[in-house]
Parts: sequence; C-alpha cells; structure tokens
Amino acid sequence: MYRGIAASPGIAIGRVFLLEEDDFVIQKKKITDEKLEISRFRNALNKAKQEMIQTKKRALQRLGKKHARLFDAYILILDDTMLRQDTIELIVKEKVSAEYALHQVMEKVLLFFKEIDDEYFKERGQDIYDVGRKVLRHLLGHEKKVLSQLESQVIVISHNLTPSDTIAMREEKVIGFATDIGGETSHVAIMAHSLEIPAVVGLKDITKSVKNDDMIIIDGNQGIVILNPDPITIKNYYGEQQIFLAEEKDLEKLKDLPAVTLDGHEINLVANIEVPEEIKSVLFHGASGVGLYRTEYLYMNRKDFPTEEEQYESYKAVAKNMLPYSVTIRTLDLGGDKVTQQFKFAPERNPFLGLRAIRLCLKYPDIFKTQLRAILRASTEGKLKIMYPMISGIEELRQANMVLEEVKEDLRKKRIDFDNEIEVGVMIEVPSAALIVDILVQESDFLSIGTNDLIQYSLAVDRVNENVTNLYNPLHLSILRLLKRIIQAGEKTGKWVAMCGEMAADPSVTMILLGLGLREFSMSAISVPKIKRIIRSIKMEESKQLADEIMSLSDNYQIREVLRKRGIEI
Ligand code: PEP
Ligand code: MG
Repeated sequence: MYRGIAASPGIAIGRVFLLEEDDFVIQKKKITDEKLEISRFRNALNKAKQEMIQTKKRALQRLGKKHARLFDAYILILDDTMLRQDTIELIVKEKVSAEYALHQVMEKVLLFFKEIDDEYFKERGQDIYDVGRKVLRHLLGHEKKVLSQLESQVIVISHNLTPSDTIAMREEKVIGFATDIGGETSHVAIMAHSLEIPAVVGLKDITKSVKNDDMIIIDGNQGIVILNPDPITIKNYYGEQQIFLAEEKDLEKLKDLPAVTLDGHEINLVANIEVPEEIKSVLFHGASGVGLYRTEYLYMNRKDFPTEEEQYESYKAVAKNMLPYSVTIRTLDLGGDKVTQQFKFAPERNPFLGLRAIRLCLKYPDIFKTQLRAILRASTEGKLKIMYPMISGIEELRQANMVLEEVKEDLRKKRIDFDNEIEVGVMIEVPSAALIVDILVQESDFLSIGTNDLIQYSLAVDRVNENVTNLYNPLHLSILRLLKRIIQAGEKTGKWVAMCGEMAADPSVTMILLGLGLREFSMSAISVPKIKRIIRSIKMEESKQLADEIMSLSDNYQIREVLRKRGIEI
C-alpha cells in the first residue's frame, strides 16, 4: 500500500498504464549532409508545433481559456532561438545528426537552469526540456503512447503529468491516476478536481514499483494506492466503489433542497472556485453562490500580468452565470506557496510570513488598482463583493480601502458604471486579525474566516509540510476560541460571518461550527452536498450544546471521545 495525498475523491480499480518519461539514448552520429539534417530538424519542430496547437484546441474546449494559455508558452519555446538556433548551429559546427545536436542543447539548457537557485527558473528549464523531448520524438520517429488514443479503460501512473497529458485524458478511458510528485495545491491536483477523476498525488516513487497492466486500486478518498491487490481487497474495494457511487447519486438528490436544520435554521452553502470554468460544477452541486473566488490563478502559468480587460471578462462571466446568487471575489493572494512568474524576487526565507497577499498589493498599488477596476466594472453584471486576504491590522484595511476609493473616484470621473453599494469584507486568517476582530468588523461589511492559514499561523504548523500534519488541528481549543470570537464580533454588529477555509468542508466539525454560530460555509463545490446532508439532519439546539461541551474541554482525546459517542469520527 502506498500513501500519498488525496487529490480528487472516488475509487478506481483497473490496469496500470505507465506513462513513462521518454528515455532517449542518443548516439553521437556524424553526418555529411547538413542541409538534410537542418530540414529534418525543422520538420520535427513543425510537427511538434502542430501537435501542440491541437492540444491547445482541446484544452480550450474542455477547460477554457485560462488553462489553454499554458500551451502558448510551450509553442513559444518551440519558436525560441535557444532550441532552434543553437541546435542548427551545432549541426553545422560539429557535423552531427539533428537528434544528437538537439539533445546536447536540451541537456545544456537543463543544466543551466538547474544551477539557478530559484524554483521558478528550475521549472522553466524543465519546460524547455519537455518541449525539446517532443521534437526529439518526431526526429526519432518514436510513437508516443498517447493518452487521447487509449483503447481500453486504464489508470495512468506517471512521475508527473504535464497539463497537456491531463487534458488528453478522455474521461471515459482514464478512470483514475496517480503521480510521484505534486501537493494538494499543485496544478495536477487542481486539474484532477475539475475533471472529477479519482486521483492520488505526491506518492514519491510509485512509478518505480509498477509495470504496465498491473492491477491497481486508487483510493482518492483516503489518498491510498494499492498495487496488485489480492482478490479479497479487490472485492472490498468494488464494494466501497459502489457505496461511493450510490452516495454520489444520493447526494445529487439534495441539489435543489435547502440547507436547513431540522429545527428550521437556514444555512448558506456556497462554493470556492479557482477558475470561471468551475461555475458549471458549482451549479451542478447546488451551491448558492461563490464565497471565495481565488483570483490568483489568473496570474499563474504566465509571464505577463492579466490585463484589466481580461480580468473584467472573467469576473463578469462569473457574476452573470451565478445570478441570482452573489460572488465574493478575493483580491490577489499571491506569495506563500502561490508563486508566479510576474514577481521575480529573491527567494524569501519564510514566504508564508513574507510579502504575500494584501501586503504585495499595497506595495504594488498599480497591480491592485487594475484588479479593483476590473472587479468594480464587472459589478454591474451581477452581485459581486470584494474581499481582502491576509489583513493583519486595521491600517492595512484602511490603506486597501483608500486604494479602492481612489479607483472608484477615477471611475466616477470617467463616468464608468459600477455598483456603488458593493460590499467589502476582510478575511480573518491571521491571529492578530482574529484578536482585533471587534475593531476590523467596524470597518467591514462582512468577515470570512480562512482557517487554512488561521490554523497554520496560530499553531505554528506549516500547512504544506507533511512532517507536521498531525499537529494541524482545527479543534485545538485556541482555534475554537478564535472562531467563537470572530463569529461573536459579527453577531454583535449585525455583520455576516462566513468560513472559506477547508474546515468548512470537514463533515466531522459541521455540527460544532453551527453550534458556534457560523451561518455561511464556503467549500469546493463537490463537498457542498455532503455538508448539506449533515445540516439537514441536525438540530441547532443540539449543535449549540455540543459546541459548549467541546469548548469546555482542553484535551483532544476528550474531544474525540465526545464526538465518537455521537458517531462522529475525526
Ligand atoms: C484560507 O487560508 O483558509 C483560505 C481560504 O485561503 P487560501 O487557502 O487560498 O490561503
Ligand atoms: Mg489563506
């Protein structure tokens, strides 16, 4: 059994399709006809380019503009002098075959980028190498095992999956996948989620242990992979798969039912999205709005900044498609583990404590203003709200609001319409903000609790470090006290309080959160029905009693015991 990170829920049982890295052995070969070699090389470049354009088209249809843009970068690499010119020069200078020359150039590029002490540049070196490999394959006449031409259903096992591999997966043929690398926030995990294929990532070296056609089970619920399972395990997992599918079907029935407790308290269940294309899934799963639109994904996988127009189109699409519901757009939350190519700073020693989110926006107000203008302009198309990430003090909130006012004033002067009443809220995800929430709430229209960061900062536990996950405890008394304090600040001032961190999607704490007074839960769309079912099965009064009881305990073992007695496992 291999343990990794559960990237996308569900169970897949089937045969392995090992998507090996191409292992090219290129012999040095002298040639006499340079012209012929150069034309072979140009031919291969063209073929690779055509292949890439086709993949981009498929990406456009399946995943929308944002993901398709990734392929532009690959196409650009094919046109880049680094691969093209250097290879041709080497063919001429050393009189060697095109494949040998290209391979030499690829190795040189990879080595050069590897030596730069910057993750971003290391990755770009790998991108160029990968593109070179595609050209090499054409030169060598190698047939690539293409995912889009699979004959039977398979489970793909790979070291990593490039965006083009992921898109080539036809849902009906690829029933699951697992990769050596990748974390919860990696591109491959995000793609798996939006394709809704069971997946486990971050398995370290699963590719070294599997062979083609091996029997394999992917348990995307628990982040487990079982290789060559015995008949009893297979039978059990088929059972589990049936239960999972039946449960999904069952949950679908809840789509149009309200999220209301047995004693009549209505709760708002809304969704977190990263890209506008997810709206389909938001509506399918019956969420009543978007509580967190992580706009930083617009800035990823590209070298330039998204223009105001581009952002406007994205925000407008989401605002329109979600009507009559509202959409909370979080302003740029870059930094921490969400690094992009636009900001090329020296690596920070503590990126989570560094120039992140609102800090970055206030340091670069032009970038912030462009985004605010786009949001404000789109606000006439639906019900939009603005939310600032990582506010740690009142000064930051005031500064952000000042920039917002400037942008509004400018729009007024230019007679550009926007929603004058647009609500502006604050994420409470830094302990200092939670401790002065009574002050912050006075100058906000709403609050949204970002538990992912609030827990990591309060408990001093890195949220992406697998060595300390056991300490990442949402039910730590300190966290419960902070949550209570935040929710009460909202109650006292009549401002609404939402939660948009992963804790909102955790079924084992739903009752406690209700009992603490939380009335809006925002989560990945796929989790909405599960939480709705819990809400529809409990009473508010009982939830309050449970929350009080849990708050009176300081020890996690006691908390577990109390929950276990109610049939809740954490
Ligand atoms: C959070 O911190 O809980 C949150 C929702 O924001 P992100 O996960 O994007 O940091
Ligand atoms: Mg956060």
